[in-house]
Amino acid sequence: MTALKTSADGQIRWTNWARNETAVPATLTRPASVEQISETIAAATAKGLPVKALGAGHSFTAIAAAHGAAAIDLSAWTGVESSDVASGLVTVRAGTTIKQLNAALDRVGLAMTNLGDIDAQTISGAISTGTHGTGAKLGGIATQVSALQVVLADGSVVTCSADERPDLFNAARVGLGALGVISTVTLRCERSFSLNADERPVPLEAVIEQLDELTTGHDHMEFYWFPYGRKALVKRNDRLPLDAAARPLSRAREFFEYTVMENVVYGAMCRAGRAVPKLVKPLNGLASIALSPRTYSDLSHRVFVTQRDVRFVESEYAVPRESLVDVLNELRAVVPKLAYPVMMPVEVRVAAADDIWLSTAYQRDSAYFAIHQYPGMPYREYFDAFEKIVAQVGGRPHWGKMHTLDAAVLRDRYPRFDDFRRVRAQVDPERVFRNAYLDRVLDAT
Ligand SMILES: Cc1cc2nc3c(=O)[nH]c(=O)nc-3n(C[C@H](O)[C@H](O)[C@H](O)COP(=O)(O)OP(=O)(O)OC[C@H]3O[C@@H](n4cnc5c(N)ncnc54)[C@H](O)[C@@H]3O)c2cc1C
Repeated sequence: MTALKTSADGQIRWTNWARNETAVPATLTRPASVEQISETIAAATAKGLPVKALGAGHSFTAIAAAHGAAAIDLSAWTGVESSDVASGLVTVRAGTTIKQLNAALDRVGLAMTNLGDIDAQTISGAISTGTHGTGAKLGGIATQVSALQVVLADGSVVTCSADERPDLFNAARVGLGALGVISTVTLRCERSFSLNADERPVPLEAVIEQLDELTTGHDHMEFYWFPYGRKALVKRNDRLPLDAAARPLSRAREFFEYTVMENVVYGAMCRAGRAVPKLVKPLNGLASIALSPRTYSDLSHRVFVTQRDVRFVESEYAVPRESLVDVLNELRAVVPKLAYPVMMPVEVRVAAADDIWLSTAYQRDSAYFAIHQYPGMPYREYFDAFEKIVAQVGGRPHWGKMHTLDAAVLRDRYPRFDDFRRVRAQVDPERVFRNAYLDRVLDAT
């Protein structure tokens, strides 16, 4: 969960996963009921304090920074409130992590349709920033939300769905934590299923040639492009028939490949590259071919979720799907000219258009480019060059990943931006849920 430390003099300090953002909240509470969430908001507003709900601290932006605010840690407000296997509707408490959610769904034979790369986030934090996985016909996690219960700035507890308060629902599914504190999330789940995973290095030119078949011919497809390597690591995950037996990797192979190769060895390579920048290019090329092909099958969440022990900083933008190759080629042209080399790969994913106002895929079939750099290595020139490339095709930044845009620019990239601000003005006229990041992305003009 979120790194929260209290010093001997009683000062609370919050740090995010990437350790690039910290904050000192004015107060910290850990409610264990909806009533306590409501009371916390009332107590904070009575003192004139802004309020910030804390997820698991896995955003790279300061979206979750509760500086000078009443921080609400939801780690005691977890678990499933109700589940109905026939309809697939499952209501979970806001602080439930995706890991806890997957375990609870396993117990009743249900599963999420699609997930991102890790399971450490809370369900509320994940949907609030538009967290997504990959799949040309599938949306991000927020598209699997069927209803939300939200505690508003005045302490009232409201429910929203497609039929009840639809404007609040359209805004709050990817609500950036700006509209209230989500208390429960109702998810539309489906019968538990297994995925067949095929992961292998493929020459980048071949990936580009086969891109249409790769994106539309598989349920989930992504690739990692190593900027100085010839090959990309392509991951294709496809659903198995419900009655098919899964063939998971052996525990030993899983430990060797995920823990040793992708985390311990890879972490050592990153440290070497940081210490001796001349090594970055050969190491990056080596990483692009070192991973051996593997095929296996397993329960869906065991395939979606990967182990990430090596820390990094990250920016990610969604661009129109048809711009994928152009953006990739522009990045390929820019990276060799950077003054400082790039240690980590670029992750490319896809998602279907959706109808959520501040979703990065709003009304647009999208391709996602996630760029990374190892902590302690310069990244500004690289991230700036990336932002310039994606700006040409109306790129929309992931709300939880590093970017420099403000409301004036974002308003042009989101057709329903003003509708979001209208709903915010209705439910939080005093900006109780503000912080500096939200001031920049929602208010600055
Ligand atoms: C290693 C790593 C891997 C990642 N992989 C992916 C990926 O595959 N796909 C992807 O899209 N993103 C990915 N991310 C980004 C991550 O999913 C998002 O930043 C997500 O928001 C983190 O969730 P969290 O619980 O940590 O929320 P936090 O970062 O703690 O909070 C995010 C926002 O949610 C708000 N919030 C939290 N709880 C509530 C609540 N109850 N009510 C209202 N607002 C609330 C917070 O106030 C804040 O505004 C990754 C991040 C890391 C560090």
